[in-house]
Amino acid sequence: MSVLLLADHDLGLLSPSTARLVNAVSQLGPVDLLVLGEGIDQVATEASKISGVSRVLVGQGAGYGGMLPDAVVSLLETLTVRYQYVAAGATAVGRDVMPRLAAKLDLMPITDVVAILDPSRFERPIYAGNAVQTVTSNQAKHLLTLRASAFRAAPLGNDAPIEPVESAATSAARVIAGHRTESDTPDLATAQIVVGGGVSVGSAEGFQLIQQLAQRLNAAVGATRAAVDAGYAPNDWQVGQTGKIIAPDLYIAVGISGALQHLAGIQGVKKIIAINTDAEAPLSKMADVVLLGDLFKTIPELIAELDRLGVKR
Ligand SMILES: Cc1cc2nc3c(=O)[nH]c(=O)nc-3n(C[C@H](O)[C@H](O)[C@H](O)COP(=O)(O)OP(=O)(O)OC[C@H]3O[C@@H](n4cnc5c(N)ncnc54)[C@H](O)[C@@H]3O)c2cc1C
Repeated sequence: MSVLLLADHDLGLLSPSTARLVNAVSQLGPVDLLVLGEGIDQVATEASKISGVSRVLVGQGAGYGGMLPDAVVSLLETLTVRYQYVAAGATAVGRDVMPRLAAKLDLMPITDVVAILDPSRFERPIYAGNAVQTVTSNQAKHLLTLRASAFRAAPLGNDAPIEPVESAATSAARVIAGHRTESDTPDLATAQIVVGGGVSVGSAEGFQLIQQLAQRLNAAVGATRAAVDAGYAPNDWQVGQTGKIIAPDLYIAVGISGALQHLAGIQGVKKIIAINTDAEAPLSKMADVVLLGDLFKTIPELIAELDRLGVKR
């Protein structure tokens, strides 16, 4: 049984989520990793180092630059005949590409997989993460999107061969502009520590307090939808049902009530510290540690204490 996995990368760097996805799908068979884009030699080299990768297939060209779904799907359609599983992360690209491929091949995609039980049984969250469904698929081929945060990363130490795939990438669409949030903090979806802020932070300037704490801990920054809607934080920081799914070892939730839609994004979190004025807030009740108090007082105190103890990651 063989697996084709679409690699996730951006700005010439392989996303840390790719090693997690390789680890997840390698239990299904030998994994060929497909890297598509422009100027991606370095990405392909990084991809070849992930243990469990049999081959890195590289499709270069302007048509793959914006990972436009029609170009990507037409290549995947030709490659799929050789594989029993075709997989991608449950990211913007994976969510765009996989249902289109499924429609072309007349298959049912299995999306948002968080556990692979055996070669034909998969677990995925439903009802905004309030229940976990086991899907048994008896299809000849399986098209999967997986939540990278649910899996541990495969180690490095491989030297898989890198092979070009010949194809002319054409798309009816073109990318006009890409807007990115400049940040030197770790990737939200795969970070070990996340500091999240809610609307009570009060302003974009107030959110810098959240960022300061995150920097001390080498943590990623997250936000509630209320904070994003208020313009205090960029959209790609949103955690939850309509945002990113995170599974860090530690989540420090600052002024976050814990609405169901937010909790849907943090189900894989191992430990929660809630900083809140309200002991009755749902997130305060489910947290491992609650710091009851005003965030504008508590966070500077916490940062000062970390400095005093010389704690830095
Ligand atoms: C279809 C749909 C999808 C949604 N998707 C998402 C999603 O993906 N992600 C998401 O987060 N939300 C989502 N929401 C919104 C969600 O329902 C909540 O409105 C949102 O999560 C609340 O954000 P919040 O915790 O910042 O604000 P609030 O619920 O207003 O909570 C503020 C909290 O801050 C505390 N607080 C106030 N002042 C201070 C202070 N000075 N110091 C410390 N604590 C303080 C309060 O006690 C309270 O607990 C969605 C809603 C819908 C309808």
